[in-house]
Amino acid sequence: MKSQDVRKQFLDFFKSNGHLIVPSAPIVLKDDPTLMFNNSGMAQFKEFFLGNGTPKSPRIADTQKCLRVSGKHNDLEDVGFDTYHHTMFEMLGNWSFGDYFKKEAINWAWQLLTEVYKIPKENLYVSVFEGSKEDNVPFDQEAWDIWKTLIDEDRIILGNKKDNFWEMGDQGPCGPCSEIHVDLRPEAEKALVTGKSLVNNDHPQVVEIWNNVFMEFNRKADGSLEKLPAQHVDTGMGFERLCMALQGKTSNYDTDVFTPLIEKVEQITGLKYTSDEVKNISEEQNKTNIAIRVIVDHVRAVAFAIADGQLPSNTGAGYVIRRILRRAIRYGFTFLNTKEPFINKLVEVLANQMEEFFPEIKSQQQLVTNVIREEEASFLRTLDQGLQLLENVVTETTGKEVSGAKVFELYDTFGFPKDLTALILKEKGFSYNEAEFEVELQKQKTRSRAASEVSTEDWNVLIPGNVETFVGYDKIENEVKIT
Ligand code: ATP
Ligand code: MG
Ligand code: MG
Ligand code: MG
Repeated sequence: MKSQDVRKQFLDFFKSNGHLIVPSAPIVLKDDPTLMFNNSGMAQFKEFFLGNGTPKSPRIADTQKCLRVSGKHNDLEDVGFDTYHHTMFEMLGNWSFGDYFKKEAINWAWQLLTEVYKIPKENLYVSVFEGSKEDNVPFDQEAWDIWKTLIDEDRIILGNKKDNFWEMGDQGPCGPCSEIHVDLRPEAEKALVTGKSLVNNDHPQVVEIWNNVFMEFNRKADGSLEKLPAQHVDTGMGFERLCMALQGKTSNYDTDVFTPLIEKVEQITGLKYTSDEVKNISEEQNKTNIAIRVIVDHVRAVAFAIADGQLPSNTGAGYVIRRILRRAIRYGFTFLNTKEPFINKLVEVLANQMEEFFPEIKSQQQLVTNVIREEEASFLRTLDQGLQLLENVVTETTGKEVSGAKVFELYDTFGFPKDLTALILKEKGFSYNEAEFEVELQKQKTRSRAASEVSTEDWNVLIPGNVETFVGYDKIENEVKIT
């Protein structure tokens, strides 16, 4: 099944069950001081759970552009190294705002996966909240009893607070959840290990695809829970992971969500990507594969952010986007031998692929391409020199820790974000002195504060009508530590 059809069938299924289909909110959040980017489907609805405002319909479904690169949910370090965590991904979701609850949510999830998508039941595991003494929340007997009517009991796994009690943040709506995991291992392996040890244990081929959250509590500032006035459902299913399961693959990058982008990289670089099915590859091919995965992942994050109005910049959310792009540029430079801008050429492929559901890239293709090309050109001007400096620093370093002042010089003069330098150092078995870096950064801040008190704005409204009121990043930049 093609990815376009996977998405469509999800939305059609929930539409036929009385849900209003709404568009994705922008990937960049402009009015939430606690969050820079949309990192889950529910972010745009959270006020409704708290009882502030009324949704257009008590049942809603959509696909939400998500970005998990900062704050509570930060998957950046895994991207490229595993085959199912992305920076930018789509989260398919259905919601009940005080309408249906566990029975309908679980039955629909099961019906969609096993009858519409036809995933064999024996490839699925589900998890149920085991309860928490600390919070005085009991074992989720209700969810267990509903699942019991659908799946063998030995496939229902109990999960703890970390995996099976979903919280928006330190405060706010929360509740027990039930996850659905799909076992993509070859048949011969399946009999070897079953049950709990597979689920939530990072087995690369037993992957969490869907989380169904039953919102019934509010976490108060003092840490205690109170019952919400109504019970809600909030679900999130990873679109690319679902496509992997339905297309019989063991890597998201082997689905048609990513193959057109990968083919374009192959065409530009003359290198080959090997699918997850090819085993025993050389160390060099492994590095090529990681670099290609990073690049085709990161270009999506950057292109969607720019199309939603967030240009790369030196502060706040703009700097997060710049860091992601520079990371991709350096992976290309070092491992794919790309010395000229090329990531911008992937935008056309992405724009065509996404056009039907997310026309914002196609409609601003030229702008997105130009911005990325300029960023590439400017970073490539200093990248080689910076890498050489870093090489010298490493050679001169006795021990395994590089001076923070040197890392600052790379940041300040060569535009190397510190996490990028850290990544390169890690590849060589080194780390750096972060405290020294911070001292240098503070010194520079004091200097530039003296020069100017005004911070420049990096938000641009590119699609009038597709964005809500923006209150400015100044507040966020001062409050959110960018890591
Ligand atoms: P994981 O345990 O795999 O990191 P999660 O529990 O953090 O996932 P949730 O917050 O429950 O994920 O999000 C709902 C769904 O979104 C997940 O079940 C998964 O399918 C998908 N998802 C989460 N993070 C990513 C990511 N970084 N890339 C792609 N899909 C993701
Ligand atoms: Mg996670
Ligand atoms: Mg999880
Ligand atoms: Mg989860």
